[in-house]
Amino acid sequence: MIIKPRGTMDIMPEDTPLWQYVEEKAREISNTHGFGEIRFPTFEQTELFARGVGDTTDVVQKEMYTFFDKDNRSMTLRPEGTASIARSIVENGRCSDAMPLKLYYLISCFRYEKPASGRYREFYQYGVEMYGSESAASDASVIALADSYVKSLGITDYSLEINSIGCKECRPHYKKALTDYYTANYDTLCDTCKTRLKTNPLRILDCKNPECAHLAKDAPKTLDYLCENCTSHMKTVEDSLKSMGITYKVDTGIVRGLDYYTRTVFEIIGPGEPDKDGNVRRLALGGGGRYDGLVEEIGGPKLPGVGFAMGLSRLIIALQMSGKELPSKKKPVLYIASLGTNAQIQALGIVNKLRDAGIYAECDLVGRSLKAQMKYADKIGAEFTAIIGDNELENGKAILKNMATSEQTEVEIKALADFFKNR
Ligand code: AMP
Repeated sequence: MIIKPRGTMDIMPEDTPLWQYVEEKAREISNTHGFGEIRFPTFEQTELFARGVGDTTDVVQKEMYTFFDKDNRSMTLRPEGTASIARSIVENGRCSDAMPLKLYYLISCFRYEKPASGRYREFYQYGVEMYGSESAASDASVIALADSYVKSLGITDYSLEINSIGCKECRPHYKKALTDYYTANYDTLCDTCKTRLKTNPLRILDCKNPECAHLAKDAPKTLDYLCENCTSHMKTVEDSLKSMGITYKVDTGIVRGLDYYTRTVFEIIGPGEPDKDGNVRRLALGGGGRYDGLVEEIGGPKLPGVGFAMGLSRLIIALQMSGKELPSKKKPVLYIASLGTNAQIQALGIVNKLRDAGIYAECDLVGRSLKAQMKYADKIGAEFTAIIGDNELENGKAILKNMATSEQTEVEIKALADFFKNR
């Protein structure tokens, strides 16, 4: 048997209502905040991600699905949305639009990661991008949108954690302090981090290796190295969050895995799940920040930006852990069981009319016995059933049975749609 590739998922009809729920809420809240949907290619020229995401990042170095097309051009399945959107707004001449430019997306992404609970090789993100404002007000309003979205889903067990990683002016001082710290602890670092120390020491702070994670606790903190402008930007972000009544924590350990971030970075951390060794690993539901240099990096004008991306499968795990009643597949209002071929044909006509009136009804399509039809109606959770045979067709009336209460009501077949609409 052919099976799906490792780290991908099939989402079955009983589960899709939950996916539709998180997607619909994303669309709803994006519209309320004035973000318009952008759609863009599933694959791009590899160079876009190498330049946009950063060629020292894990994503670019280890996780990309890269292939050569038939013309021998290197292409990559998108590992995230931000770099593609930056390319798209430059290519479509949107950098001179009235600012801010507010965009949202719902996409699948591809990363060759080690599959685990909540970690897939093809996964789904809801993200937003706001371009054209350097002001801390735009950071705060994007963070507020992320926070409202998670809340609107009904997830309460999460925390919003923010940090600033400085700008072109102050980050080199921080990098130097970090390099000095890790050089002094060189022997304790894992092999990957020994390389990271040369290429990008900030990445070491993200390393999951227990020894590196332990070292990270005493590493120099970004906030101690910010220049005056970055300090004041961070303060205004915090003041704005407070003014909007948003609860947050400052976590100096957040640096984010992608190169394009400047100043504000943030994560939304969800509930914990014990791993196979019993250690509780809290799920990152989403993350984002400011990326003032990205558009220039990929060949566009200077255009600041700020945004986030949420992992839909992680939000779904958090919802399942919340104990909240979850959306499920719609159940039919009426199942019409039929006796004989003529009744089956007539039942199809009745069901079709009800469906045209927006009422979800079902009838027999398989040729089941009456007993088996009733069993099936019960299985699919029909709210009402009606049995239609020659008598009912002659009288133009059917008896509706409420499956929960067993109460019976006689209704004219012609008036079925009105009955369901007016009840
Ligand atoms: P990132 O683009 O790495 O900042 O990720 C943003 C969010 O996407 C994370 O917080 C996760 O919720 C989600 N995410 C990232 N990688 C994966 C993955 N491999 N599988 C599922 N969700 C992911």
